[in-house]
Amino acid sequence: MSESVHHAYIGLGSNLNGPRQHVEKALINLQYLPVTTLVAVSPCYASKPVGPQDQPDFINAVARVDTRLSPLALLDQLQALEQQHRRRRLRHWGPRTLDLDLLLFDDLDLDLPRLTLPHPAMQERAFVLFPLADIAPELTIGATRLKDLLLHMKDDDLQRL
Ligand code: AMP
Repeated sequence: MSESVHHAYIGLGSNLNGPRQHVEKALINLQYLPVTTLVAVSPCYASKPVGPQDQPDFINAVARVDTRLSPLALLDQLQALEQQHRRRRLRHWGPRTLDLDLLLFDDLDLDLPRLTLPHPAMQERAFVLFPLADIAPELTIGATRLKDLLLHMKDDDLQRL
């Protein structure tokens, strides 16, 4: 645990039956992470799956937390939440998913086996950038302004709910 407070952004995604409720449950889970405060939550978006289309649409959202956890400790917490959700869904409903991505952690650049920051795919994903802009319109990712990334981003497959 660190003395200082860090600002982190988390991407949430689910494509189980009733995925919106699932994302909302995950947002409640984030409120209970140790030494962490949930500061902002974007609206939910429906997005077409990347890759195979024979699966349900995704529900996505982005959250900002203020945390005293280290980046890897926060990742541990997110992965534990993913496992909790997966286990519960596997038992009662069959395979279901919850994906939690650590998008940004302060201005940190990291390239560890378990953790790359900023999240490597975030700049190409409309379902990350649009909700991120809802809660942090003035954000920069490295040297790039989020606003500039959005100029070139199509939102055809994305529906704000
Ligand atoms: P996926 O299930 O496709 O989201 O991939 C999860 C894997 O990516 C895990 O092994 C993580 O350790 C790794 N990973 C690397 N960077 C990140 C990040 N910024 N956020 C979440 N997982 C990450």
